Amino acid sequence: MPSSAPARIAGMSIEELEALMAELGQPAYRARQTAAWVHRRGVRSFDSMTDLPAELRALLSERAELAQPLVRESRRSRDGSVKLLLELEDGERIESVAIPDEDGRLTACVSTQAGCPCGCVFCMTGRSGYRRNLDSAEIVCQVSAAASSAGRPVTNVVFMGMGEPLLNLEEVTRALSVITDRRCVGIGSRHVTVSTVGIPPAIDRLSGFRGQVGLALSLHSAVEQTRRRLVPYSRRWSLADIRESLVRYSSAVNRPVTLEYCLIGGVNDSRAEAEALTAFARGVRAKINLIGCNRVEGLPWRSPSPRAMKAFRDWVAESCPVVTLRASRGSDISAACGQLGGVSGGVSGSG
Ligand code: SF4
Repeated sequence: MPSSAPARIAGMSIEELEALMAELGQPAYRARQTAAWVHRRGVRSFDSMTDLPAELRALLSERAELAQPLVRESRRSRDGSVKLLLELEDGERIESVAIPDEDGRLTACVSTQAGCPCGCVFCMTGRSGYRRNLDSAEIVCQVSAAASSAGRPVTNVVFMGMGEPLLNLEEVTRALSVITDRRCVGIGSRHVTVSTVGIPPAIDRLSGFRGQVGLALSLHSAVEQTRRRLVPYSRRWSLADIRESLVRYSSAVNRPVTLEYCLIGGVNDSRAEAEALTAFARGVRAKINLIGCNRVEGLPWRSPSPRAMKAFRDWVAESCPVVTLRASRGSDISAACGQLGGVSGGVSGSG
């Protein structure tokens, strides 16, 4: 970080905060105090950090910032999910979703890029193109915005909003450090999942992160030709290479990966596609999530009928018992997979 740029406290790990405190001539424990004010108490000004000396508060006001995105719009779904339209300092707009469930969990679905270069054909974000990467502070602040919207702490985080997280790996890894550190946001790494279209070199790098972060592959078809059509960015790697990287990741973090499969009527819901999916999953420690494609205005893709989706699940279950047909959340407010971006007038989705 250039010394002239203000330090963006919300996106800094404890180690980075300690380095900042050292620069300011302060003891290391001031880093933990500052992090607690930002992540636990959600203060909006350094002056509110009353257990810091006045001299340090003044220094922080000069050298650092507590960037908080503006909540431009908030839409609540019938199922309790809340979609937030957030405006960043440069006017860029992104979306996040807070998803409560009946077990008391609150999941924040966060964006990692403004726009996305991957171009998945069923996704609003993919159609808008790429604008820029988010920095760590902009990613972490989405977790606090989700908590504020729900009035309670976030328990789980999924990197499944706008953008491909592994194309912004450096800032995503910094954000993971802040989110999973007990001295900062403090959500256990086993409650955090990063979703990707499948970029083997970046998957290998992510496996070096210190926690057991979950990995979800947006697979959508295990037939090369179909997948290249649905997820154009994936043309760079073969399904075999992606599969091998999943095996390595699962082994490195000692937890199963998730294969996400968005069912599209007449495109990837045939018996042959189900067999390709089970062949792909064989030998991978994986659970499979099936979900019906969400309707996106202007796009032709439709979910198969409930009966066709159950038939697909049953075909897969013949060989892969760990398969779930999930209900879509937040589709009535365009907050479901592939639908993000509607309220901003742009177009968006979910890696
Ligand atoms: S589905 Fe995810 S990776 Fe694909 S275009 Fe949309 S945001 Fe990007």
